[in-house]
Amino acid sequence: MTHHIQHRATHAKLARVLDLVTGQYMRFKLQCNCEPGDNPAQSEVAGHMGVGSNFLCHKCHAGGTKKEKQSNPGVLRTVQETLKEVEHQLQLASRGVALTVTTRQTETGVKDVYTQFWIEWLIQWSQEQQKCREGQSLEEIKAELMDLIESDHDSVYNPFLTLKYSNVNQDTPVEILHTILLGIVKYGWHTTHTTWKDNQKALYASRLQSTDPEGLSIPAICAGYIMQYANLLIGWQLKILAQTNVFYIYDLVSADQYQLIKATGVLAALLWVPEIFNMGEYLEDVKIAVANVLDSAAKLDPSKIIAKMKYHLLVHIPDDVERLGSIIGQATESHESFNLVFRHCSVLSNHQSPSRNIAYQLAKQDTFRHLISGGWYKERGESNPEQWKLSGHVLLQYVEKSEVLKQIYHIGPHLRGKENVGATVLKPISHKDKEPRSRICQAHQENGKVLFWCLPKAPRLPSYPAY
Ligand SMILES: [Zn+2]
Repeated sequence: MTHHIQHRATHAKLARVLDLVTGQYMRFKLQCNCEPGDNPAQSEVAGHMGVGSNFLCHKCHAGGTKKEKQSNPGVLRTVQETLKEVEHQLQLASRGVALTVTTRQTETGVKDVYTQFWIEWLIQWSQEQQKCREGQSLEEIKAELMDLIESDHDSVYNPFLTLKYSNVNQDTPVEILHTILLGIVKYGWHTTHTTWKDNQKALYASRLQSTDPEGLSIPAICAGYIMQYANLLIGWQLKILAQTNVFYIYDLVSADQYQLIKATGVLAALLWVPEIFNMGEYLEDVKIAVANVLDSAAKLDPSKIIAKMKYHLLVHIPDDVERLGSIIGQATESHESFNLVFRHCSVLSNHQSPSRNIAYQLAKQDTFRHLISGGWYKERGESNPEQWKLSGHVLLQYVEKSEVLKQIYHIGPHLRGKENVGATVLKPISHKDKEPRSRICQAHQENGKVLFWCLPKAPRLPSYPAY
């Protein structure tokens, strides 16, 4: 809630910061770009009933009875429509009949866990009031309760639904780890390996182990482990299979199974792109690749197409790419490694408000990282109300030499001199450099074509005080 209020406060009064490149002040307002997360989390923030409901998609109205279910996207949901539905459910709740609310939730697929507390409270309160105030009509009690709800609007409604310039139903992009790797890649892998006999498993493992990992951006392959724990694979292992299986299983599976693995491989190759050069062409390719995956999966087991939410979500990928860019940009895989940190923040707190405690703890850690990595901060003093400072050079030098700190806080990989092939590093400009700002253009060769890109010069190095 505090976050929501602070976010809105920057719209009313823009936050002011110092731009170290130009040395001038600039202003900004906070804006929620999108909400990456796994499918249950995205359903929750979008006020949706969940993937187990009849209307299984938080992005569209697809669903209903088994007859009506299909894998084409339904009419897209909007945040205004979801908010209106939640308001309607509150009004129903104020009449004191729980069944009407639950029926409405099942019919629409909208059930906001944030407002659900108030809905349950309203039902109970309305029932009690109807019993005690015999002379009063139901409409009067309802109006009174709704006034009470409206007077505390911010506490009752899910902040994601009232967020300005954001459509949370559409700004919850398809997530590549949970929907692709742990979704269709896993389903495809399951349909293949479960039918194998021991000799086929051994043959597959030897083929997989012989993979040349050069250029695949994957860690070392442990084929024996992958085969032994075939049903318990995690993201990076499935990423290996998505890239390599098509070459190894051609004579170990049926034609239909092989078709699914090929279609999944093509889609995965299309999705793991950091940059899209021709959006129209790319979207057409993705649409065809998605349709091929769905057709191949339907040929193997048609019931899965309507039962598995992750198959349905594939049809939303083109819209998400058009709205938010390449979907690997919203991947949550790298954040998964923070799960232990989240857990410790909660375990080592006073357990009064775990989410708040975690948020505060992470904010403190981020502030610490900002300071030790040479970030600037504003210090208010009586004589000089706005003085911008940074940590002392002794601390910065200490951090520079400490591999542990740099690793924990992921500070400047370029300082360690381990640059990935193709990666670029912005060289800091010395504070003595008085040249006007310029742009450095670099070129690189790719498949015989020369591509150009421009890099702005990095912020100037701070002038350390002389001791
Ligand atoms: Zn949908």
